[in-house]
Amino acid sequence: MKRIRCPKCDQIILFDETQYEAGRILVFECTECHKQFKIRLPHPKDNQDLSKEIPVGYLTILENAFQLKQILPLMLGANIIGRSVKGSKANLAFRTVDPSIDTTHCIITAEKDKDGKILFLLQDAPSNTGTFLQNQLLQLREQAHLQEGDIINIGAATMILKLKDE
Ligand SMILES: [Zn+2]
Repeated sequence: MKRIRCPKCDQIILFDETQYEAGRILVFECTECHKQFKIRLPHPKDNQDLSKEIPVGYLTILENAFQLKQILPLMLGANIIGRSVKGSKANLAFRTVDPSIDTTHCIITAEKDKDGKILFLLQDAPSNTGTFLQNQLLQLREQAHLQEGDIINIGAATMILKLKDE
């Protein structure tokens, strides 16, 4: 049994969550105040707390103009990089006031090859101002292999690929 609280009057309501599919939205009516409210049953996927996954690399972001340094963890799969905004589609959004960085600017895909070695591929999202790898502008749909220490420029920010957290 699971306990939930009425959001209006705090009345405790018990229900048998095993009766329902994971990820389902249930509507309750409070037995006390008759307020109706919804809850979503946790989906097994929700339990994969991102913070518990082990990063496969790191991106150090330096914003020279603002003296700011941020370190973002890279995970297996698509790491979508961009300027943090409300409702961002980028899973690796970072805070910046630089308007030349798009909200989805570039993507680093981390994947394992057949030997279990992790490969990093960089591509432009596409963005308005382009993505530069070692001072070379990436072409549309170009996927460039990244190596430790590679320098990526988007807007006025410099990003450095690191395989270890430093
Ligand atoms: Zn209530």
